[in-house]
Amino acid sequence: MDSPNTPAAQIRKVVIAGGGTAGWLAACALSNQFRDRLDITLVESEQIGTVGVGESTVPPIRTFHRFLQIDEQEFLRAVAGTFKLSISFENWRRPGERYIHPFGITGQGTWAAAFHHFWLDSLRRGMPSELGDFCLETLASRGDQFSLQSQPQVNYAYHFDAGLYAKYLRRIAEGYGLRRVEGKIREVRQRADDGAVQALVLEDGQVIEGDLFIDCTGFRGLLIEQTLGTGYEDWNEWLPSDRAVAVQTESVGPPVPYTRAIAHEAGWRWHIPLQHRVGCGLVFSSRHMSDDEARAKLLRDVGAPAIRDPWLVPFRTGRRLKAWNKNVVALGLASGFIEPLESTSIHLAISAVVRLVQLFPFDGIASSLVELYNEVSRAEMEHVRDFIILHYHATQRDEPMWKACREMPLPDSLEIRLRAWRERAHAWQDPDELFRVDSWTHVMLGQGIQPGPPHPLARALADDDLRKLLDSIRQPIERAVAGMPSQQAFIDRYCKAGPEVWGNRPVPR
Ligand SMILES: Cc1cc2nc3c(=O)[nH]c(=O)nc-3n(C[C@H](O)[C@H](O)[C@H](O)COP(=O)(O)OP(=O)(O)OC[C@H]3O[C@@H](n4cnc5c(N)ncnc54)[C@H](O)[C@@H]3O)c2cc1C
Repeated sequence: MDSPNTPAAQIRKVVIAGGGTAGWLAACALSNQFRDRLDITLVESEQIGTVGVGESTVPPIRTFHRFLQIDEQEFLRAVAGTFKLSISFENWRRPGERYIHPFGITGQGTWAAAFHHFWLDSLRRGMPSELGDFCLETLASRGDQFSLQSQPQVNYAYHFDAGLYAKYLRRIAEGYGLRRVEGKIREVRQRADDGAVQALVLEDGQVIEGDLFIDCTGFRGLLIEQTLGTGYEDWNEWLPSDRAVAVQTESVGPPVPYTRAIAHEAGWRWHIPLQHRVGCGLVFSSRHMSDDEARAKLLRDVGAPAIRDPWLVPFRTGRRLKAWNKNVVALGLASGFIEPLESTSIHLAISAVVRLVQLFPFDGIASSLVELYNEVSRAEMEHVRDFIILHYHATQRDEPMWKACREMPLPDSLEIRLRAWRERAHAWQDPDELFRVDSWTHVMLGQGIQPGPPHPLARALADDDLRKLLDSIRQPIERAVAGMPSQQAFIDRYCKAGPEVWGNRPVPR
């Protein structure tokens, strides 16, 4: 690494180890931006394969796709994609209850006071409504509707087939001239002087040298952990789930425009509808449920015929102590993992790739860049971690796992947020956070945390003015949603995947 007295070695050869979603995201971004300046190689092993899950996303993926000049219709056809407006949380606060965590903006606040203060005060004055009535994405989710032409516009993300997405990204990166090498990495060779990585040696004897290595080898962390021994901070004390069993099923109805997250006695189950099938999985705590119980429960609860055998994915929630160590940058699962409840992992990989592009060390690895990169990565992951802990902590379920979560001590950063809510109805956010005030508000209310008194500005409004304000927000949303087609009708017109994706599977109707 750079020191004040030694010139840093320039970075020209980049090697990406691993070709799952993270590897191909990195390959696309780097080759899109720097194909004339860098020699980029990606090594992957079909024999090892990818984790095979990761099919629900959050809206910033659309910005990333715009950077890459991806055509949305072509993309959705290629990955059998559907639209995602929200997550439906079922059985979280108590069995039988549901709330929606929508994307997009809820209501309209003022500079000083967020919208939910006005809404809370309207309840106090006996004007009944739900917070979601003031959110386009919630209303459209309730009716299984979708359109890109609505006014106000929708904020959305995607559901897609993870295998097809990696293939799609690969086509783009190879179009930019990226070199892909098929093969299993047998050895990671280190430099004698500083221990940095020098080359990857494949099973067939090929030696792939590089100046900078991007570790996208998934949970293995072949370079960042198995070679450099970077270390891992474990968050299991707050997030008890440590395994998932995944399966794919036939679609037995039109796709809903949201991911379903359904709590059960020892974790939760995801349901991600694609055009040609549904991705399902049971996330669970191995202390409270065995693998066999989880597999049987999943197959019982999915309510549709499985189209492949279930597979088990053990994981460890936490983060790599340094995402960037020496000349290795870990991305995706190699850099850490927060369980998939809010579908944040692909987003975190994209955010890290963008950060790497922006700080790319052409003139050598400066310690300031590494520290900056690692500090931002840490803060970003801890923010997401706190948001996920909120879901586990704030429930009234009485099974042992949930009871333990309710009683556990929280990270200080989350504790203070919850106090601000309980004492003064504030859902605080830092400017760079992924989850904004509206997200925190919907989830805190949905999980049953009572807010304190709303902002004095809301309390000062005359009844008539408050009623007019609420109507002026709600009515255009109701009109917009009334004019929306079903998501299925919209997909049929806009981005229906062809037979190369459907294969000989029946098309649901
Ligand atoms: C249960 C579960 C559910 C998830 N759901 C979501 C979700 O809904 N939304 C979301 O955003 N994220 C989700 N994720 C996370 C998401 O799956 C990952 O972030 C994403 O797939 C990226 O994975 P990856 O590329 O880092 O790793 P992998 O997919 O594991 O890819 C690793 C790559 O490294 C290669 N490799 C490994 N060892 C070697 C070797 N020795 N030689 C050569 N190649 C090698 C493999 O062949 C493969 O190509 C989920 C994760 C889990 C565990």
